This record gives sequence, C-alpha cells and structure tokens, in this order.
Amino acid sequence: MKVIKQHYINGRFVDSHGTETLDIVNPTNKTVIARLTLGDEQDARDAIGAAKAAFQTYSKTSIEERKDYLQRLHDAIAARTDEHIAVRTEEYGGVARHNRFSIEGAAKIFLNMKKTLDEVPFVKKVGQAKVTLKPVGVAGLITPWNSAIFMVCNKLAPALAAGCTVVIKPSELSAMQIQLLMECIDSAGVPPGVINVVNGLGHVVGNELTTHPDVAKVSFTGSTIVGKTVMRNAAETMKRVTLELGGKSAHIILDDADIDQAAEFVLSAGFMNNGQACISGTRILVPEHKLEAIKAAFLRAMPKWKVGNPTEDDIVLGPLVTEKQFNRVQGYIQKGIDEGAEILAGGVGQPKGLEAGFFTKPTIFVNVTNDMTIAREEIFGPVLSVITYKDDGDAVRIANDSAYGLQGWISTTNLQRGQALADQIEAGVVMVNQVFNLFDEAGAPAGGVKQSGIGREFGTYGLSSYLEPQAVFF
Ligand code: NAD
Repeated sequence: MKVIKQHYINGRFVDSHGTETLDIVNPTNKTVIARLTLGDEQDARDAIGAAKAAFQTYSKTSIEERKDYLQRLHDAIAARTDEHIAVRTEEYGGVARHNRFSIEGAAKIFLNMKKTLDEVPFVKKVGQAKVTLKPVGVAGLITPWNSAIFMVCNKLAPALAAGCTVVIKPSELSAMQIQLLMECIDSAGVPPGVINVVNGLGHVVGNELTTHPDVAKVSFTGSTIVGKTVMRNAAETMKRVTLELGGKSAHIILDDADIDQAAEFVLSAGFMNNGQACISGTRILVPEHKLEAIKAAFLRAMPKWKVGNPTEDDIVLGPLVTEKQFNRVQGYIQKGIDEGAEILAGGVGQPKGLEAGFFTKPTIFVNVTNDMTIAREEIFGPVLSVITYKDDGDAVRIANDSAYGLQGWISTTNLQRGQALADQIEAGVVMVNQVFNLFDEAGAPAGGVKQSGIGREFGTYGLSSYLEPQAVFF
C-alpha cells in the first residue's frame, strides 16, 4: 500500500501538518491501495505564503520565460504518460479509450497555452490610455476527481501563462494521480513557490483557499452545490472566481439523423469516462414518431458498451469511482423506476460477475418526462433518459428547461439545420455530430451558463480570467 503524506510547497515535498488519513480504494476490486494524510489549514496557509512570496518575482517574468516553463511542464508530464495512464486506471477505474485522451490532452494544454500567449496583446493603446494586462495574483485552483490531471492542468497552464502563482487543491480521491503530477512539476524546474499543491478535504484546505485574503482568484471545477459555497466564501475578499460546475445536457436527435449513427453518438456522449463527465449528454431528446426505431437502434448499439476491468483493452466502461458514487447512481436508477420511467437497458444492481468492484449497469430509461428527478438532477453515472419531442421548437424548449447549461449535443445529417438549432441552445458549448474537440489548438472556449458556472476555460478566454487590465492615462 502506498503512503502519501506530503504536499508540494515552495519547491519541496513537505510532510503534512494534518494527522487525519483517508484510504484510497481501487474501484475495480475494492482493495485499499493508498493511505493519504490530509492537509490542514496550516498547510494551506504555508502554501499560500509561498505563492505570495513567489508572485513578487514570477509576476514580472517575460512572456518568453513563461513559455519556457509551459514547455517544460508539457515535457515533464508527457514523458510519464504511461505511468499517468496506469495510475488513472488503478485509482479511478479509467478505461483505455478515455485515459490517453485525458492524459495526452492534459500535457497538450501547456503547448496550446504557449501559442495563446502569442495572441494576447499584454500592452496596448486604447485612446489616450496605455492598457496593461496584469496577473491577478495568487490563484487557488480547486479540482474534482473525474479527470484529475486534466482538470489541474487546464487551470495551471493559463494561470502560469498569465504570471500568477498557484496553490492547487486537488480532489482528495485522486491522491496517487496527483502524487505523480507533483513529481512531474518538481522535475520541470519551475521556481520554488510558483506551483504549490496541498492535499486535503474541501471544507478544510479548500475553505482556506476560498477565504484567505492573500488569494486573489479561485478557479473551481466541481459540483454546483460546492460552487455556490466557493462563490459565497470568495465574496468576502472579492476574489475573482471561475466556476466550472455540473450539467444535465440535452442531446437532440433531429428527425433527419441516421438513426444508428445517432445511437452510437448518443452512447459515446452519454457514457464517456464511465459516465462520470460533466459534459455528458444525458437527456436524450428524440422525435416522437421515431421513438420505436431509435429504441431499437439503442438496443443494437448497447452490446459495444462492455463493462468490466478497466485494465482490459476491450472494456469501454469501468467502475464508478467510490462506493458513495455507486450508491448515488443506484439511488437515481431506483428513483427513475419509482417515478414511472421505464428501463430500456440496464437497471438497478450490478452486471453479472462484476460484484467485486463498484460496477453499475449502463442504463437507458424511456418514457421519461422532463420534470422527473432523473431528468433534472445530475446523476454523474452512465444513466440516460429518453424524452420525446413533437417538433424542433419543442426540442429546444425541453433542452433549455434545465437549471444547467453546460453543453448541448445535436445529431443530424443536415449541418446547417444543426447549426441553426445550436444557436437556440442555452449552453456554453454545443457539439454537432462530434464527441470531442476541446483540445482545439485555436483555443475555443468551454464553460457553462446558468447553474453550470461562470467564466470560460481554454485559449484566450481561459487566460484572460487570470488577468486584470490596468489603464494608465498620460
Ligand atoms: P465536488 O464539488 O464535491 O468537489 C470538487 C472539489 O471541491 C474537490 O477538490 C473538493 O475537495 C472541493 N471542495 C469540497 N467542498 C469544498 C468547500 N467547502 N470549499 C472549497 N472546496 C471544496 O465535486 P466532485 O464530486 O469532486 O466532482 C464531480 C462534480 O464536478 C460534478 O458535479 C461534475 O459535473 C463537476 N465537474 C464539472 C466540470 C466542468 O468543467 N464544468 C468538469 C468536471 C467535473
């Protein structure tokens, strides 16, 4: 069993002040694989102090120096890609299909951000004024467990590019993945104090980051409920906040869609990352008159979604991350049944022969109405709800009838029609006929509207959230 009791503060691995521990469990077989010593408020304060001191010099580095650090971080992470993948599988249950995409994508963010730096005029003349973009200060980066390395890198790269120093509070459930990341960060040779990592619980270490007066900005990815706490806490010292929160995204199958292609696309967008993805399309909106044909297409496509041990190459759905998450997902499936939805595939309980881990059956509900709990709340597991619509206007109305607005999905053979519909969807991103394009080197933004969050990540949009313009008139 691995023992993790150190944070990374001021360029060194240091023992935790905290004494409380958390066991990390392999979700595939429920064995304890690591014991993490959780940090306390003092650890967080030490890291904030180191970041504050380092900001004095790092904030004045040239763009070329920052580009060099971004390159070094890319290289350090990329050099250990296979190790990252192995630990992601062991600790999280990640499957091959998603692991490489997530880890290689994480490293690539640093290269993309290098390019982005060339696109931003850090100093420009606006009328009489000289406008300078300045780093906001120490940034607290708080991240979830579902794509641990990717989420950290997606905040770290723009923060460093902007000239900020950071304290990272990763999910306590990703300690082994983060340990490896800390080693990569250490080997990259970024000056001490610029990047600090503190392991610990949200209401302890996270709380310190969101309330401490020396933290100027918090970038948070996680649940909407915690996001609201973060925002309330941050208000007291007027911290800048970026919030990347939950979703309940609609996937509209237009009546011109190729039904089998659409079914494949729906399952890929709905079950990605073991069903634990914020952007998953989980409300499947289908034309009323095509329901029976689409149900048949789903049943034809489902056998490809093989659940099992994520170390095996042909497995596309691994376990849920923890027992808590497993029970949560099971509870939602039962709730769907209790509220009158009908199971088309899957259901409560575990797939046969997979009782040793936190495996759940990929589930499709039909006869769902948009007011049911399974259509309104984020389940964060492989559970899809099929809802019928009468015409395009009805589809848009149902899609937008949600507290969330993270992502939209559209299946169509008519791109123009898909684009026109996308314009009407209340979401930060809409994907027409494609599952992923988030590492787009051009730096298109991602993020949510409504209760899916505030602000955008990637490219100049992400970078600008770590910068404050100052106008000087002379
Ligand atoms: P979570 O909200 O429980 O935790 C996220 C992080 O916040 C963790 O590091 C946690 O320790 C910390 N935290 C908890 N309480 C805190 C507090 N009081 N103050 C400060 N920090 C605190 O989320 P999770 O269960 O780790 O992740 C799943 C959620 O994340 C889902 O809702 C999912 O939709 C969301 N998510 C969103 C995106 C996005 O880009 N929009 C991406 C991935 C995940």
